[in-house]
Amino acid sequence: MVRLKLFFNQENEVDISGLNNKSTVQDFFDGVDEFFTENPLPCDECKQNCCKGRFKINMDSISAKKISKGKVERIIPKLFVNAGENKLEVFMVAGNKKCRHLNGLSRCLIYQERPASCRTYICIPKSICYKILDAAIVAEMHHAMRAEFLDVVIKDRTTPPGAIEPAKALRQEIISTSVAYGCNNYNEILLKDCVRSDFAHSNVSQEEARLFHEIINREEV
Ligand code: SF4
Ligand code: SF4
Repeated sequence: MVRLKLFFNQENEVDISGLNNKSTVQDFFDGVDEFFTENPLPCDECKQNCCKGRFKINMDSISAKKISKGKVERIIPKLFVNAGENKLEVFMVAGNKKCRHLNGLSRCLIYQERPASCRTYICIPKSICYKILDAAIVAEMHHAMRAEFLDVVIKDRTTPPGAIEPAKALRQEIISTSVAYGCNNYNEILLKDCVRSDFAHSNVSQEEARLFHEIINREEV
């Protein structure tokens, strides 16, 4: 396992160290968890509890598989879907609703299986490198979720026949540009493969991708 540490840099932003070209998405999540253990946020006293629906939360394919125990079709009706021409977005939280997984004590009931958006969210300043990684991972996991969603739509007997072929075409397009589709665990996905600017879903600019790869290649292993 590659160790990935998070710490505060000189600008008092959350930053990353130990990142290299073998680091996985799981390494990053472990680094975030360890950082929170060492630098706990005041979530218990926070009046703006961020799980109470101030944000849209992208759903993630691995989280969806884990929450549903491999039967993604079970959770699809509980998600929020925004489908339009050339657009398909799948959210766990729609932006103005409390997350259904938050209990009365403001605890996450699916903490071990929560999506990437929840795992990487930090409500304190973050370095550029952190922001790039955060954006890239959330975008990749959401991209794979779009294909998982279409798998369910295609198999669903209630889907109108005329919608099947467009769904298959979009699914194929997504799969051909996805590094996360088909993965069951975050340690199957390399961070370096997530940070790319060559696809519309990537959420990272060319300059950000160049900067990120320059940083991880300094620590070849
Ligand atoms: S992560 Fe930040 S915004 Fe969210 S509940 Fe904790 S302190 Fe509040
Ligand atoms: S899944 Fe858990 S961490 Fe994410 S918004 Fe819901 S309650 Fe909060």
